[in-house]
Amino acid sequence: MKNLAKIYFFIFILIAVGIGYLYFSLQHTTQKLSANVNRLFIQQADEFAKNISREIIQQLPQDENFFDALFEGEYLREELEREISLIATGTYKYVFVLYRDETGTYRYLLDGSKKEKGEFGEKLHVNKKIWDQVWKNACSHVFYHKQLETLWVTYLYPVVIHGKTQAIIAIDFSNNIEKQIHAALLPLKTILFSIFAAIFFMFIVILLQLYFTYKTKRENLTDPLTGAYNRNYLREFLNNVQIENYKILMVDIDHFKQVNDTYGHQTGDKILQEVAKIIKNTIRDEDRLIRFGGEEFIIFIKKSSGLASECKVAQRIRENIAATNFHYNNQDLRITASIGVTCRPQTFKTVSDAIKHADEMLYVAKRDGRNQVVLDVTDTQKETGKQKLIPVYEVQEAIEEGRVVCYYQPIFHIKSRKIHKYEALVRIQNRDGSITPPMEFLPVVMHTNIYNLLTKTILGIVFEKIKENRVSISINLNFSDIIDKNIFSLILNELEQNKEYAHWLIIELLEYEPLDNSSEIFVKNLRMMKACGVKIAIDDFGSGFANYTLFQSLPIDIVKIDASIIKNIDKSNISKSITKSILTLTNALSIETVAEFVHSQSVLKTLEDMDVDYAQGYYLGKPEATISSFE
Ligand code: GH3
Ligand code: MG
Ligand code: MG
Repeated sequence: MKNLAKIYFFIFILIAVGIGYLYFSLQHTTQKLSANVNRLFIQQADEFAKNISREIIQQLPQDENFFDALFEGEYLREELEREISLIATGTYKYVFVLYRDETGTYRYLLDGSKKEKGEFGEKLHVNKKIWDQVWKNACSHVFYHKQLETLWVTYLYPVVIHGKTQAIIAIDFSNNIEKQIHAALLPLKTILFSIFAAIFFMFIVILLQLYFTYKTKRENLTDPLTGAYNRNYLREFLNNVQIENYKILMVDIDHFKQVNDTYGHQTGDKILQEVAKIIKNTIRDEDRLIRFGGEEFIIFIKKSSGLASECKVAQRIRENIAATNFHYNNQDLRITASIGVTCRPQTFKTVSDAIKHADEMLYVAKRDGRNQVVLDVTDTQKETGKQKLIPVYEVQEAIEEGRVVCYYQPIFHIKSRKIHKYEALVRIQNRDGSITPPMEFLPVVMHTNIYNLLTKTILGIVFEKIKENRVSISINLNFSDIIDKNIFSLILNELEQNKEYAHWLIIELLEYEPLDNSSEIFVKNLRMMKACGVKIAIDDFGSGFANYTLFQSLPIDIVKIDASIIKNIDKSNISKSITKSILTLTNALSIETVAEFVHSQSVLKTLEDMDVDYAQGYYLGKPEATISSFE
């Protein structure tokens, strides 16, 4: 379609140029033809003048001046005038002979003109400068009188005897032929001109149409706020591009929500515009900047021979953003951005996998402190020896393909040494049968939609397990899960439909981030679940967020004492004291206690002595795919 338009356009231009050429060459030919015709007439006039001159010289006595001789000889005058008048036909309108008297005035000697005939000796007003020149130099001369309608030509020819000018023959003619040529060609010229004008007009119309089509298309493909391309463009770009020729950069402004909250949305918008400008100025024309969404940009950097410089471009973008002093409303502010890069998009199954990978790397950049560039999982791992992570899309695929599984770790009742419950721990089963542990994918999906999707999947699995095995199972949920409407209603529906299982479900709270009024929803939802019979546990108590103030606000049934306290409890008095203080409180509030990370007999013995209710750890049982025994 595009090529067809190009061909039409080309043919169109060709025709326009052809017609234009024809028109102008016709114009040129007309002028050339007129000049040639003029030359012919002048040549003929010269021929006539020579003949007249010869005749005069022959007829007139040589020793007398012309005036005197003709003054006397009236018959001779008439004879000569008759001969001259033979020439004065049609084109040659006036033919006459003048002489110059002593005062320099030009007067008629002979006049062969049919009309407006000059009398012998009558004075004629001439262009003295030209006539004097012909008289003096004794050489012929042509001059044109440009009049309104007619082109008049005067040919002057000196009659010379013994090197001295005696008279001047003047032949005036109007070149009607030239007019006729013009008139004959006029219809053709008019047609050509009309075609040319029509084509030119059409050309302008098409050009305008193309411009407006391009403008609309461009608007359709551009983000109005930043002027960068938008997702529509991304789709088009990916359809037409050889992705192996590009590197993919995913850029996200750090803590942008905070910028909006502190300085206002308008300032946020201006910063987005400014950041887009900085990036545009840093990349080249062949690179593509696309606003991926919110404060996230995707950049395709065209690979060239200088590979090193391409790696640097991400660094340069980061540096340029960090070095910019954003000045709004009399306030200076600095921002930073994190960048994830996919250097070898061709190694991915699809382009969207390569993009997801860049997003992954962006996540790593965020996780590791922001304001940095992360090139590849493998590269980063090599450099920093950090935990391996799998891409988000792999987690999504695992959910879709039902490869998310739960392993169950037994929780023992210390006094009876019997398993009382299990903790469900999520895993991904890979297509080759291997298992990916949660630390390799949970951080990746933590603040994404996939996380809640994952929670729903786990909930489904755990509910089934509870029904199947009629055991108490705890699952790990975080703040966002509890306040998520879908997850909450999923849990509540399940509990309402299967009331007898409700008391077998334990929710372990992983984190608690009181944020404005969402904490009210959090507490309300927890209370509603508890009212159905669900038990609420605080995970990792004694570390991080889990502290005593939680008892005031949350309906807690179980406290899981953090591994960092339990692991050395048999040897460390500090750990013992902390545990004792926790137990004092839990006993007072009738809250059950679970010790995590019980890895030895001696730890278990210490816990038993201290009256901790439950224990969980490798010493007692590792997480297993199945719940084999329930004692
Ligand atoms: P992080 O460092 O993890 O990226 O934190 P962040 O706050 O930048 O990230 P988050 O994704 O939590 O917040 C992005 C914010 O960007 C939230 C949203 O209000 C803001 N945002 C998205 N689009 C626009 C926009 O067009 N204009 C403005 N002013 N803000 C926007
Ligand atoms: Mg951000
Ligand atoms: Mg973001």
